Amino acid sequence: MFTQPALPYSAEALEPAISKQTVDFHYGKHEKAYIDNLNRMIEGTEFENKPIEDIVRNSNGGLFNNASQAWNHIFYFFSFSPDGGGEPAGDLRRAIDEQFGSFEEFKKKFVETGVSLFGSGWVWLVKNKDGKLEIRQGANAWSPLAENLTPLLTFDVWEHAYYLDYQNRRADSLNALWDIVDWRVVESRY
Ligand code: MN
Repeated sequence: MFTQPALPYSAEALEPAISKQTVDFHYGKHEKAYIDNLNRMIEGTEFENKPIEDIVRNSNGGLFNNASQAWNHIFYFFSFSPDGGGEPAGDLRRAIDEQFGSFEEFKKKFVETGVSLFGSGWVWLVKNKDGKLEIRQGANAWSPLAENLTPLLTFDVWEHAYYLDYQNRRADSLNALWDIVDWRVVESRY
């Protein structure tokens, strides 16, 4: 039985990048529904007492979709802070500069990758098994955990993530998130 973790900030704290209304729906309805569905689907099965990461790695179909979407949303909302923004530092920053040329180039490529994903999904910054950074598109509930990649950062590009605030302007919605990314959290995942 999984419990939805409380957000470490208030629902209006991420404005104007993400409105209170969007947090109320996205966290309060969408994320909650994935966790509720996951709990319903694992009841009485071999997955009942397994960590959510094990369920993501070892399931498919509807169970995978709900487990992965639950995990992705928790990871997403814990990547932001009202005190976020600015730039990454340390080893992660060095890797970004080395592989993408600059932080500005990285941000541009990350947003382009999110904008060009057709339909619903996520754009990810991951570390692969060779320790290199990769920007990946993940359709629907795709999970880097299932491919043994280390997830560092993700932006949700499902329309429910931005439509109330930005309507069809996906690029604007993604660019606004740079103001709230908590780079200390992202660095700690690297
Ligand atoms: Mn979402």
